[in-house]
Amino acid sequence: SKQNGRNGFAFYFEDLNIDTRRVLVLDTEIRKAIENKDFELYFQPKVSIGDNKIVGIEALVRWKNEKLGFVSPNEFIPFAEETGLIIPISEIIIEKACEELRKLRNAGFYDLTIALNISSIHFHQYSFLDSIKNILEKNNTSAQNFEIEVTERTVMNSDSDTIRKLVRLKQLGFKLSIDDFGTGYSSLSYLVRFPLDYLKIDRSFIQHIITLDDKQAVVDAIIQMAHRLKMEVVAEGVESVQQLNLLKEMGCDYIQGYYYSRPVPMDELIEFLQIWEVV
Ligand code: C2E
Ligand code: CA
Ligand code: CA
Ligand code: CA
Repeated sequence: SKQNGRNGFAFYFEDLNIDTRRVLVLDTEIRKAIENKDFELYFQPKVSIGDNKIVGIEALVRWKNEKLGFVSPNEFIPFAEETGLIIPISEIIIEKACEELRKLRNAGFYDLTIALNISSIHFHQYSFLDSIKNILEKNNTSAQNFEIEVTERTVMNSDSDTIRKLVRLKQLGFKLSIDDFGTGYSSLSYLVRFPLDYLKIDRSFIQHIITLDDKQAVVDAIIQMAHRLKMEVVAEGVESVQQLNLLKEMGCDYIQGYYYSRPVPMDELIEFLQIWEVV
């Protein structure tokens, strides 16, 4: 009640519904986390089907907060996109990726690239290219060490600015991937105008590839067409050997998923890589 509230804020806060309260706490805690650079990166290997080699790793952000516990990126990234806080978060992530890259190189893994998920809000910001270039320069590293993942939705409005940015990223030396392919509305033929290296088929297709014939047909068609358009295909969310074998038959190039490894911290990833090398 009003009398019991220690102050106006406490009173109003208690009266709010749970969703609104969570939003307020999230907002406060995200701001603190940005201040303290309190985000971590986990990594998941990308394996080439043909020769069973690990060719790269994807960086996935992790945030553990003292009040909220572990908060999924599926919750806080869209939230941070709405408030614009995604831009400082994204810059922290890129900076941390540079630090983690050093650990990887120090452990003797010189060829692996790190894939960065770039939010459409950051990508479309006018200073995006400068921002990413500056962070890499500050860390004495170059674009050749990285891959940029943007979703189909990010590049859907293929205006001249989008094309210009993708071409520039490519010229700088980044590899480019289209993430979550199949969840947007774009057609493959429309992607040809972009200088893309990889197309990542969304997990929602891979999940039912064994049981649903129509999903299987779609995945097969995506792979064949992507190859004709000179893109390589990554299947995400592969969990079983059945899925792996089917994707292999279809000519898919790379696999990511729990079948090989969940996303893990860099130290664990390095151990994983060392064991993998021996096998
Ligand atoms: P995404 O980029 O499509 O990443 C793949 C998600 O699938 C990751 O979830 C990964 O942990 C999960 N995954 C990988 N293999 C499997 C599997 O075999 N089975 C299942 N069930 N899941 C699998 P995560 O890490 O929770 O990330 C969720 C989404 O949050 C990402 O989807 C991406 O959209 C966003 N995200 C994560 N990290 C970042 C980041 O650093 N920056 C930005 N902008 N977004 C990020
Ligand atoms: Ca991704
Ligand atoms: Ca994805
Ligand atoms: Ca996804």
